[in-house]
Amino acid sequence: MERIGVLTSGGDSPGMNPCIRAVVRAAIYKGLEVIGIRRGYMGLIENDIQIMDASSVSGIIYRGGTVLKTARSKEFMEKEGQEKAVENIKKLGIQTLIVIGGDGSFRGARVLDEKWDIPTIGIPATIDNDIWGTDFTIGFLTAVDTALEAIDKIRDTATSHDRLFLVEVMGRTSGFIALWSGLAGGAEDILIPELSTNLDEVCAELDEGRKRGKTSSIIIVAEGNKIGSAAEIASRIRKKTGYEERVVVLGHLQRGGSPCLWDRILGIRLGAAAVDAAVKKKRNIMIGIVNGEIKMSPLSDIGKKKKKINLDLYYLNRIMAT
Ligand code: ADP
Repeated sequence: MERIGVLTSGGDSPGMNPCIRAVVRAAIYKGLEVIGIRRGYMGLIENDIQIMDASSVSGIIYRGGTVLKTARSKEFMEKEGQEKAVENIKKLGIQTLIVIGGDGSFRGARVLDEKWDIPTIGIPATIDNDIWGTDFTIGFLTAVDTALEAIDKIRDTATSHDRLFLVEVMGRTSGFIALWSGLAGGAEDILIPELSTNLDEVCAELDEGRKRGKTSSIIIVAEGNKIGSAAEIASRIRKKTGYEERVVVLGHLQRGGSPCLWDRILGIRLGAAAVDAAVKKKRNIMIGIVNGEIKMSPLSDIGKKKKKINLDLYYLNRIMAT
């Protein structure tokens, strides 16, 4: 019987569990055996594995995180670590390895495929949504929902106290979470890594808002924006305007929680499609979703190309905030 392996690697994201479940159930349906590898590439090196039968993934569809656990492995970046991993893959008789993770994990998958001749297939799962070759990554919309819920609650207190709030959301290199949660949450401004921000202009807009009768404001700040942390920006705004402000850093809250409807559907579709691709002997690819359809892209493209944020949403928010 053919065997496939599945692991989750890098940053966790809500929806990894429905995806693992889909890989396991679709593989069993197609007559394959599935080996689950715990703690990503680290588990591959340490042979930390479990046989996955249909019941091993019962009751996980609604759970955040990943039952296979995830990790970052420095050892796997080196030849010795990779050798150990490859030896274990061969001993286990794994014919295709399915890697659920972000772009770092895909670099590792590519190494396995291109350097060590282990067929690999990637499934994009990260809350950042910053992977080319797919409109959505597993976990993004759940993270946006979490951020939005927080913004709504912050708005209640901001309005009651006539305050300015700066809410820092995740996104070191991309502003997807900031842009989507900011637009949906009615933010007065959104600071993202993709655009430079002039703080004088931000302060002028706040002043104009006040003149028009706005008594409270919320600014969404992506971690990787071009100015600094939310706390730094807040103190600079206070110095310039004198507004009383508060800072909320959402942090790892955004990684947790039950996957939303879309992340479950996406996890299930991409997981099943990855198994189909493995059966068809496809390799060194990532399975994504583009315009609602499953799309396969070479892993080599994923590393080279950067997904662009839709700046129309940013300018739309500027109009909404007037
Ligand atoms: P993410 O998948 O969330 O982007 P990381 O960037 O931390 O997470 O990558 C996860 C793991 O992938 C790393 O800890 C490492 O083991 C492996 N990895 C990343 N880049 C490479 C590389 N160039 N060669 C081999 N393995 C890599």
